[in-house]
Amino acid sequence: MELLKERIRKDGVIKEGNVLKVDNFLNHQMDIGLFNEIGREFKRRFADERIDKILTIEASGIGIAAIAAQYFGVPVVFAKKAQSINLDGTMLSAPVESFTHKRRYEVIVASRFLRPGENILIIDDFLANGCAAMGLCQIVEAAHARVAGIGIVIEKGFQCGGKLLREKGLRVESLAIVDGMDAATQTVQFRD
Ligand code: 5GP
Repeated sequence: MELLKERIRKDGVIKEGNVLKVDNFLNHQMDIGLFNEIGREFKRRFADERIDKILTIEASGIGIAAIAAQYFGVPVVFAKKAQSINLDGTMLSAPVESFTHKRRYEVIVASRFLRPGENILIIDDFLANGCAAMGLCQIVEAAHARVAGIGIVIEKGFQCGGKLLREKGLRVESLAIVDGMDAATQTVQFRD
């Protein structure tokens, strides 16, 4: 998606440790015009899939999924990262190792929001080692629902997540794939 690549070139900041900071438009301040185009593009790419629900993970996935959901006309469920007294009923959970925070946590979804046989589109802001997406897939499987696809805004193609998910036969659509980035020169190489 050219518009997204241009924005990453313009506003992305490359930090040490293979972290791309895009908080100017994606995951702190949010450019809703761009989110609209991202939502439209996800719909175009998954036009041939039946989607009953979008599943994402708090916090950064929520805004993106909410805007995209308007193109699909389906509800959004977001996995929570902490137990809360507001969580009741049967819970589905999976362990996730955070790439940016370097810690392990459980992601939790109330089973009443993912029903057997539903077709689920997973959406997230980044794909790095694939832990977050894998955890969400595990939750979908535990609900006896089906992962119809995985929509990612920025995939870091030099990390293993995309390869792992595709090798499992999952359909991953990433709107920008970064094949390399250099903190010294602040340059990003995209896959064509
Ligand atoms: P994974 O589980 O695929 O290793 O990492 C995905 C999660 O880590 C995403 O939900 C995202 O929040 C975060 N993440 C991974 N890499 C980056 C990055 O380079 N920049 C930012 N801002 N977040 C990242």
